[in-house]
Amino acid sequence: MPKRLTRDQAAALYARLAAAEPAPKTELVWRDPFTLLVAVVLSAQATDVSVNKATGPLFAVADTPEKMAALGEERLGRYIKTIGLWRAKAKNVVALSRALIERHGGVVPQTREALEALPGVGRKTANVVLNAAFGQPTLAVDTHVFRVANRSGLAPGTTPLAVEEALMKVTPPEYLQHAHHWLILLGRYTCLARAPKCAACAIADLCLFKEKTPGVQTAKIGPRSLPPSLEGRGRGRGTRRPNAGKSP
Ligand code: SF4
Repeated sequence: MPKRLTRDQAAALYARLAAAEPAPKTELVWRDPFTLLVAVVLSAQATDVSVNKATGPLFAVADTPEKMAALGEERLGRYIKTIGLWRAKAKNVVALSRALIERHGGVVPQTREALEALPGVGRKTANVVLNAAFGQPTLAVDTHVFRVANRSGLAPGTTPLAVEEALMKVTPPEYLQHAHHWLILLGRYTCLARAPKCAACAIADLCLFKEKTPGVQTAKIGPRSLPPSLEGRGRGRGTRRPNAGKSP
């Protein structure tokens, strides 16, 4: 049985993250539920930066289901060729645009069932859209959230769904709205897959990860790689380079 944080410890962990970043947001650029849905579909196995580079010009010409359907797969493909799996994604984005027009009058639905019935939309994408666009307390589990939840002991689980269910149980209601983004930011900038920056981590004293990295030389971490604000204040500063941590 993996070690896990108590409810009180979990609440303390979220309080720490909330104090550091009261209103975290997705790093994807979007302007309404449809553009968010498209951006999230395009972001599978791609970085937010690469998606934003493509969607800037794309949304300038096609920011509604009607315009996206009219653009068609081939022309859409020209905008997203720099993103991995672009052929399949172009097909899905055009198909989901058509489905939105046919089934929902061109409006992005606000239920999980309707969202997951759209081409290319799985549970994670639906959770992100429900949370970020419609303010619902859903918790999408991507690779970063999965890693942080397992390492820290916040919500250990062997599958994304198991982690999501564990997170839903342990996350105090008042933190549900932002939990996804806090954990993503922590995983993306601090709890890195190969070498977590434990000495610079805001929740290091609460985290149960056995192989925490020893003192990170914070001066050597350039400003670009620093987490925006989910970082401690130099606890445990030392001189050794961080060890590689184990991915979950
Ligand atoms: S202390 Fe280390 S392992 Fe734990 S959450 Fe922070 S960076 Fe990740």
